[in-house]
Amino acid sequence: MTLQRFRMCIHGEWVDARSGKTFESFDPALAEPWACLADADEVDVDLAVQSAQQAFESTAWRTLSATARGKLLRRLGDLIAENAEHLAQLESKDNGKLIRETRGQVNYLPEFFYYTAGLADKLEGTTLPLDKPDLFAYTQPQPLGVVAGIIPWNSPLYLAAIKLAPALAAGNTLVLKPSEHASATLLELARLVLEAGIPPGVVNVVTGYGPSTGAALTRHPLVRKIAFTGGTSTAQHVVRSSAENFAKLSLELGGKSPNIIFADADLDSAVNGAIAGIYAAAGQSCVAGSRLLVQDDIYDTFIERLINRAERIKIGNPQDESSEMGPMATAQQLAIVEQSVANALAEGACLRLGGKRPDTALKGWYYQPTLLECTSSDLTIMQEEVFGPVAAVIRFSTEAEALSLANDSRFGLAAGIWTRDLGRAHRLARDVRSGIIWVNTYRAVSAMAPIGGFGQSGYGRESGIDSVLAYTEPKTVWINLSQAPMPDPFIMR
Ligand code: NAP
Repeated sequence: MTLQRFRMCIHGEWVDARSGKTFESFDPALAEPWACLADADEVDVDLAVQSAQQAFESTAWRTLSATARGKLLRRLGDLIAENAEHLAQLESKDNGKLIRETRGQVNYLPEFFYYTAGLADKLEGTTLPLDKPDLFAYTQPQPLGVVAGIIPWNSPLYLAAIKLAPALAAGNTLVLKPSEHASATLLELARLVLEAGIPPGVVNVVTGYGPSTGAALTRHPLVRKIAFTGGTSTAQHVVRSSAENFAKLSLELGGKSPNIIFADADLDSAVNGAIAGIYAAAGQSCVAGSRLLVQDDIYDTFIERLINRAERIKIGNPQDESSEMGPMATAQQLAIVEQSVANALAEGACLRLGGKRPDTALKGWYYQPTLLECTSSDLTIMQEEVFGPVAAVIRFSTEAEALSLANDSRFGLAAGIWTRDLGRAHRLARDVRSGIIWVNTYRAVSAMAPIGGFGQSGYGRESGIDSVLAYTEPKTVWINLSQAPMPDPFIMR
């Protein structure tokens, strides 16, 4: 089979790695290689960062008004909309996500660009009410410089968009590094960036492996911010890299999000919410509701209904419109899922559903929707992210117990609360330690809503009204209003 060839985008040029090295990307639905990409090393990364720095300093970019940057983002949003089907198909092939889902995500993507375009010229500094009458001071938000965007494989376009749009709105330049497992759509995005009229070098994409390409980028001395989405242990490497260049950081990491179902909930909705939380995207979602907390009174009924629906999930090729669950994105991810389930069983969890690869002729890295019943929150499966279609369920009797279980985690990315009791919904929304709380819904996103976690789910927020501000730093400007000569130079004014 001929592999599709992709080159990197550095300073608006489509280039191979200087070393000539390449690597293969696999189609998870077929478990076979489909694309060949440049394997960037330190030299290529340096070229990309130098290109971004040069673009940052260029008059073409620096003197562009914020309003003009907003217009470019709007144009880019339009181009994404025009190319949505192509991008959706490509992402589905590359990371094995359902075409239904990639299409939905890509169709919404332009909204992030339109919303952020509108914010570009609304960043304001402040005048300071100084306590020194002879002086006047104001602040100005300034772009940071070169931003390194490190993107995982599960939703490359979406996770790149929520970095790229605000970074450009604020006047920065970028080097994006997609995962070696799903790079194709970010290279297509780079093509659209150029087509939109964004000057060469403002957005560069380097491809390669995390520990080499990714590490060379995050520790590069010219990088001023690292916007990272990925796993907690990789984040520790990234934080160490930032000790070398003092780059600002935003970390969007993993989770072990609780989906809490109370006896008074609308059970049909709650079952759908539980399915959406853990089996949508085959559980390869940072906000996966991988811990199900279910109240005693409805526990058996709820589990029965959940199993009934989950058993009917149609596992199939992600490009098939009728499929409901696709494969794991990588063979390694499938192995992690299998090992996590085996460990859970060894620790005493009870298998209620799934627990193996499906009995089908499908060649890819598929795994069945799986449900593990747990009697203790201490089990590893209740504490560690699996990133697969594996729900760990535990029962509770009181609201206080539910809250204590929900917060018994080093993560704090998202939580679902299913109840008809308004007071309880607000109490838990206040007390559950998570960056995102969904009440009687799950996996909702909007360009207007901040995303980010507490605890080991990371820090910083993406999306929403403050997203552009996160790509700036304030400058304080002092003006002497006095006509008198500078006073005593040996004391502070
Ligand atoms: P990962 O292994 O941490 O990789 C994330 C990115 O970091 C990839 O581009 C990876 O490149 C790169 N990388 C790896 N080692 C690196 C290093 N030493 N220095 C710099 N970059 C390095 O995560 P993943 O397995 O791709 O994605 C799954 C994780 O992402 C899960 O934990 C999930 O919860 C999290 N996630 C979080 C969010 C959120 O918004 N909070 C969203 C989606 C996913 P390679 O892939 O080429 O190694």
